[in-house]
Amino acid sequence: MFKILSRTFTQHMKEPVRVVVTGGSGQIAYSLLFRIASGSLLGEHQPVILQIYDLPHMQSALKGVVMEISDGAFPLVHEIIASDTPSTVYADADYAFLVGAKPRGPGMERGDLLKQNGEIFVKVGQDLDKFAKKTVKVLAVGNPVNTNALIAMSNAPSIPKENFTAMTRLDHNRALCQLATYLNTEVHNIEKLVIWGNHSPTMFPDLTYTTLHNQKIKTKIDHIWYEKEFIPTVQQRGTAIIAARKASSAASAASAAVDHVRDWALGSNGQWVSMAVPSDLYNGEYGIPIGLIFSYPIVCANGSYQLVKDLKIDEFQHNKLRITVNELLKEKEAVVDLIRK
Ligand code: NAD
Repeated sequence: MFKILSRTFTQHMKEPVRVVVTGGSGQIAYSLLFRIASGSLLGEHQPVILQIYDLPHMQSALKGVVMEISDGAFPLVHEIIASDTPSTVYADADYAFLVGAKPRGPGMERGDLLKQNGEIFVKVGQDLDKFAKKTVKVLAVGNPVNTNALIAMSNAPSIPKENFTAMTRLDHNRALCQLATYLNTEVHNIEKLVIWGNHSPTMFPDLTYTTLHNQKIKTKIDHIWYEKEFIPTVQQRGTAIIAARKASSAASAASAAVDHVRDWALGSNGQWVSMAVPSDLYNGEYGIPIGLIFSYPIVCANGSYQLVKDLKIDEFQHNKLRITVNELLKEKEAVVDLIRK
């Protein structure tokens, strides 16, 4: 373990909060840690203690990352703890960004990835259960995110289920930007966009309720563009980035992770956001079976989140929802032995 000494605060009124980032020497963490350190996550008056995990053989690289954070001289960084020891990293955590995961290697089936990363998230769930605060807010970023979050949640029985979420905010942000470009407007003029389901190509980016300047846009958009261009572009954006960059999206993923947890902690100001959360909380609403981590339209306030309820679902939406539900059920089936009953 290496630890950068705490700084003494004279001006900040708030107690520091403990923010865990796993996969600390990876690509996403390299962007995420600096955003957290700068105050983008919890605001400019909230000091943070960064608790960073990576595997034993990554400790040298992690040490370099810690040196760079330290060299940023971020006034909000109270302390940096970096380690390969879970009891150190997860201790009293307030927030946990679960980024660490194995990338999909050449020739690896999705099923292999599910199993191998699933095993990582069993351990992460158990460690959070043992060492983190019971109020910890958890965001799974490492893929396959929805099922990984489900595995971690089931292995952390002493932490409320609603504290476990998975990231579809990158898909939400991608969809916002695609739509804003199509409508020749700025993203902040658009509201009520939804990503439903799995963070995978079966996700459903839904414009049924979306507004531009508070006016519904459904009649203004070409349905062929919506079905044949918009939906596939959002669903396949991750693959397109890998093809272009020869590496998976990293800075945009980190930015979306900050958006997700910031809104959860500080509120989304009445705006709809997309978050994958336990379907158990909503008793089959919208026909989504319980027992999944599913992306829904959500509004965040007062440190928690609520489902946007009573939306009408037409047949087109229903068919899209069924596809992504079925994929999540299959993913769950593939890792059923990792899910604690
Ligand atoms: P990366 O390969 O650069 O870094 C992954 C890090 O995880 C490495 O430092 C590695 O040592 C660490 N790691 C491996 N096994 C671990 C374990 N058992 N415990 C803890 N850490 C472990 O990858 P990246 O680009 O940072 O991406 C991380 C994950 O995020 C990947 O699974 C990627 O597919 C996923 N991702 C998700 C989204 C999303 O929108 N949800 C978007 C982009 C990437």
